[in-house]
Amino acid sequence: MAKLSIRDLDLKGKTVFMRVDFNVPLAPGGQEITSDKRIRAALPTIQYALEQGCGLILASHLGRPKGKRNPEMSLQPVAVKLAELLGKPVTMAPDCVGPEVAALKPKPGEVLLLENLRFHAEEEANDAEFSRQLAALCDVYVNDAFGTAHRAHASTVGMISYVSQAAAGLLMDKELQWLGKATQNPDRPCIAILGGAKVSDKIEVIQNLSKVVDRLLIGGAMAYTFLKARGETTGKSLVEDDKLPLASELMSSLGDKLMLPADHVVAEEFKADAPHEVVTSIADGKMALDIGPATIAAFEAVIRSSKTIIWNGPMGVFEMKPFDTGTVALAKAVAGSGAVSVVGGGDSEKAIKSAGVSDKITHVSTGGGASLEYLSGLELPGVAALTEK
Ligand code: AMP
Repeated sequence: MAKLSIRDLDLKGKTVFMRVDFNVPLAPGGQEITSDKRIRAALPTIQYALEQGCGLILASHLGRPKGKRNPEMSLQPVAVKLAELLGKPVTMAPDCVGPEVAALKPKPGEVLLLENLRFHAEEEANDAEFSRQLAALCDVYVNDAFGTAHRAHASTVGMISYVSQAAAGLLMDKELQWLGKATQNPDRPCIAILGGAKVSDKIEVIQNLSKVVDRLLIGGAMAYTFLKARGETTGKSLVEDDKLPLASELMSSLGDKLMLPADHVVAEEFKADAPHEVVTSIADGKMALDIGPATIAAFEAVIRSSKTIIWNGPMGVFEMKPFDTGTVALAKAVAGSGAVSVVGGGDSEKAIKSAGVSDKITHVSTGGGASLEYLSGLELPGVAALTEK
């Protein structure tokens, strides 16, 4: 179901409450922002809203203050950075609710940044009275924080019951557009590449995507639970023994759709530059830390003939050279495929960056947890709550 977009709203003269993701990393002490990527990512929606002539209230959480005021998790440094990036003043509110905040209501073209929503325990508790107080600050609600859309909090769900219109911001809209396209209406063949540490983290994703994709390529540590379930030796590789029956079940339901690694880069120790070799069967005392060259070639061939690629999770221990080889090779193959490519946040995003191909990926999701929930087929509460078009 299509949700209202900020582009559908008449914002002129209105006070807009925009939930953004300003959960930026801070150096110890909380004064210095070490990456302003999330602030920059929100700029297009902020600038669009200001151009429409509204007064803009921005709200976010930062860190885990657990319902208490903590000066080390104040959004004050974000206000300074945002003002610099926007080239206009940003007023920092002393709190996110209350009469003092209401008195700071921004005029058209002005920006007010509320203090950390999670200084109040009521935010994560999705408290009705707190939600009502947030909603009382504005005429219109916009959510551009995809990364928290899988959480039903006051600022992502609760306050929406008290506003007349709730729309997706440009970032949120883009997330829904590409994740939606890849999972509901993909150009075919459509494949998913899944990797990372644990099968248990991605069971629902595997189950849901198996209904959508033509092929499912599994690499990374999670592959070894499948290989062991199939009766292969896995040595000291990471295996979730309690998930062996489930892996067997998934293999029989996926049948030929599933591709697992056929060769592996193994070492005796989990450390960068550990002596390593390529094998097709893993001996006792060895652990697989990356997919091998024959697997890379087989996966690349499938990638080249795909029209839609969904990717989440690395193919090996990509943080340690040379065990990043498989992940980097696949990142390059995905980027060069010409397919619509949708990559989950977190480690996959880092891998795409270290391969230097970020600009050739159709969409890199800004929400790790939220994109996994979306790919699992779950409805994100923060999306479900938005007004329908
Ligand atoms: P995830 O957060 O589930 O996507 O898992 C990412 C982590 O899986 C990364 O830190 C990788 O180092 C790790 N990983 C991937 N392949 C392997 C492997 N073969 N052995 C151990 N860890 C792995």
